[in-house]
Amino acid sequence: MPLLGVLGWPVAHSRSPAIHNAALAELGLAGWHYQRLPVPPALFEETVRALGAAGFAGANVTIPHKEAALALAGEASERARAIGAANTLSFAADGTIVAENTDAPGLIAALGVPVAGLRAQVLGAGGSARAAVWALLDAGAAEVLVWNRTSVRAERLTADLGGSAVERPQPADLLVNCTSVGLGLERSSAEDRDLNQLGLGGDQIGEYSYVADLVYSSRSTPLLAAAAACGVRTIDGLEILVRQGALSYELWTGREPPLEIMRRAAHEHPD
Ligand code: NAP
Repeated sequence: MPLLGVLGWPVAHSRSPAIHNAALAELGLAGWHYQRLPVPPALFEETVRALGAAGFAGANVTIPHKEAALALAGEASERARAIGAANTLSFAADGTIVAENTDAPGLIAALGVPVAGLRAQVLGAGGSARAAVWALLDAGAAEVLVWNRTSVRAERLTADLGGSAVERPQPADLLVNCTSVGLGLERSSAEDRDLNQLGLGGDQIGEYSYVADLVYSSRSTPLLAAAAACGVRTIDGLEILVRQGALSYELWTGREPPLEIMRRAAHEHPD
């Protein structure tokens, strides 16, 4: 009876149990169960090392544990090592902990357009921005520009991974918001303020062909609302969440993920 879960602190808000349990039920994987694993940083390593023996086949990892997950794994993919973070752990029968990063390919899958040759502007320089920059460069983006409120972090990120740090967001084919701006705010009152916090003017949004926002909510985020109002194609954070989850699911179960079922579970979950 394999167990799966999501390690985070806090993790009560996570939609991953709903997404994965819906997928497990759809494919008739009776006995599999995916649960929240709220673990504070001080207990992270000893908890993770005990999961395999406790019947866990794998676990997703979210804030603030993604770097620690990579550090404790006995094996890691080249992608996870390059990004410096893991969001997916697998527990092998011999006790080996294997780290992977599905945030990066999940973003590319969610974009649904060929990235090769595109110019991309990434906003943010935290953990998800690292995965996005690596993913875009790996997918052949012609140029990846990184803007961050704290510019020294953008410089550090591009020195590590490639791309170029910029002082303000530049015109590009694709805009990817990897900051937490837009989280839990009502669109009407927050749109201008959020765009300002991202260094963007409302009239700039229409210059992009695609706008992706990693922030997820059952409502549109202020950034995506502004993009949609300009007729720009949008990719929302729930699709990105579902795609990274689907890749983790495939890794653990060896089965093709039922994407539509996973999407429905993600959207039905309350904010
Ligand atoms: P993180 O490592 O904490 O980084 C946060 C980023 O947001 C930093 O670049 C920070 O800039 C910026 N920021 C925060 N408040 C800001 C403000 N008021 N104005 C301008 N910039 C601000 O977080 P993360 O792990 O990268 O996650 C970022 C967001 O992506 C979160 O909302 C998370 O839920 C979401 N996410 C979604 C998915 C998905 O699958 N859809 C996956 C991962 C993450 P400074 O450096 O200046 O502080």
